[in-house]
Amino acid sequence: MTIHDVSDVLNNIRVVMVNTTHPGNIGSAARAMKTMGLSQLVLVKPKIFPSEEADWLASGAVDILQQARVVASLEEAIADCGLILGASARQRRIPWPVIDGRQCGELAVREASHHPVALVFGREAMGLRNEELTQCHYHVAIPGNPEYSVLNVAMAIQLLCYEVRTHWLLQSAVAEDTAQSMPIVARAWDEPLATHQDMQNFQAHFVRVLERLEVIDSKNPRQILVRVKRLLARVRPDKTELNFLRGVLTAVEDKGKLSGAK
Ligand code: SAH
Repeated sequence: MTIHDVSDVLNNIRVVMVNTTHPGNIGSAARAMKTMGLSQLVLVKPKIFPSEEADWLASGAVDILQQARVVASLEEAIADCGLILGASARQRRIPWPVIDGRQCGELAVREASHHPVALVFGREAMGLRNEELTQCHYHVAIPGNPEYSVLNVAMAIQLLCYEVRTHWLLQSAVAEDTAQSMPIVARAWDEPLATHQDMQNFQAHFVRVLERLEVIDSKNPRQILVRVKRLLARVRPDKTELNFLRGVLTAVEDKGKLSGAK
């Protein structure tokens, strides 16, 4: 399955909470997710669920709790996932490939258009067991204060969901640019972009024609020139486009001569 609509990417990234003890943390996690646009919460054998306390802390995100899936094992929670990222504050005796929160966000967003992605979080008291972490592709470690870097589980969820959102926003912006054929920025193009010199030549030509047509007055300060420069900077025309426009300007000049204009 490949997702082409970027808006579906966040729905393909799930948060898995393993054996959560405090229902308040489940509620806070739901809120953390919803504020960042994630919706899929999976609870592996929660101690207490559903609960009023979870609902209170979820606040406007009770819908996430209502849709949450409760399962009997981590295996069940991640069975259909192509990428599994396990969050843990603890270094392991046999280290797993470690990435930080930012890399986690980037990876999750990149892969979620191809397959479901799981972000797995451990118990409040003892985190993820080794055999749980070893079911993950990466160990995600949020690099906190080395003297004490253990976050509350819902806060760890908030941070990683924020990283996911940041990368998702970046990806959405790129997709939108492409869709709208916006400025050519670091993309393959069929023609070389206009050089600074081409732009200068075009601007001089453009201004000359505007003056001859008396659209602008050469003696008055010309804000318009700044705006034309900004327009060209935004558009970043290529050489062919600019040559075509130069041709239009020349045709306008020739017509002007033909009709006896100055
Ligand atoms: N005493 C536990 C701490 C668990 S904190 C332990 O020794 O592991 C609860 C969960 O929050 C963790 O299992 C992990 O999923 C997440 N978490 C907390 N701090 C984190 C950090 N710095 N990096 C990554 N995940 C973290």
